[in-house]
Amino acid sequence: MSNSYKLDSIIKVDESLCIGCGSCIRACPGALITKKEFPVPIEDSWDQCIDCGHCVAICPTEAMHQRSMGPEDCHPIDIHQVPQWEKVKQYLMTRRSIRTYINKPIEKEKVEMLLDISRFAPNGANRQVLHWVIINDPARVHRVAELTIEWMKEMKETNRALYDEARLQLFIDPWEAGQDHISRGAPCIIMATAPKEERTAPPAAMIGIHQIQMAAPALGLGTSFTGSINTACHWLISMP
Ligand code: SF4
Ligand code: SF4
Repeated sequence: MSNSYKLDSIIKVDESLCIGCGSCIRACPGALITKKEFPVPIEDSWDQCIDCGHCVAICPTEAMHQRSMGPEDCHPIDIHQVPQWEKVKQYLMTRRSIRTYINKPIEKEKVEMLLDISRFAPNGANRQVLHWVIINDPARVHRVAELTIEWMKEMKETNRALYDEARLQLFIDPWEAGQDHISRGAPCIIMATAPKEERTAPPAAMIGIHQIQMAAPALGLGTSFTGSINTACHWLISMP
């Protein structure tokens, strides 16, 4: 987003460019824009605007400016870049969870590109609640796997129901034999976190992570969900 926009209302229209089409009014999910001579925000709209940018994106003449973004921040849709069904189907049907990795760190730029694209995923009224933990170091990823195994062994003694239901022995046995079925040799972990009380966090995290997973192959990267680490973390933060 541009830092140059610091409006004192949620929108401002360049009247010399506005053609009065009303698209911004129809596109606003909160019905926060009304028409006088030109589009204007309704009263008390400041706290209701979710900064989605629909009003800016849909404006055909670049007349609309929103408090945190302008036309230059909203990329126009290039219909020729939208993949056709056969390509979408082929891409989605051939997606695989990767469980064999090359053990070297990911380029920092690639991680940043993935995090940046994840913020465009649907995330609950555009609340952008996620914080990201990045462990981009094979040795540290291995240590996370080791800690997860230690947690599993603790569950064997203290929470047999979870241990059996999650079949944690299936991770411990290979580990003892020198095989890491937790991280599978991945060099990098990308973990989404959010405040415990944030009600939109679970779906936002899943969708945000999924967005990263779908984008990663375009950067030559494979991915998989690490349910075991996730289960351990969830259990630990749920402890009273
Ligand atoms: S940014 Fe979204 S919510 Fe805010 S005025 Fe524009 S369309 Fe409405
Ligand atoms: S979408 Fe743009 S051109 Fe159309 S009414 Fe709104 S500001 Fe004016």
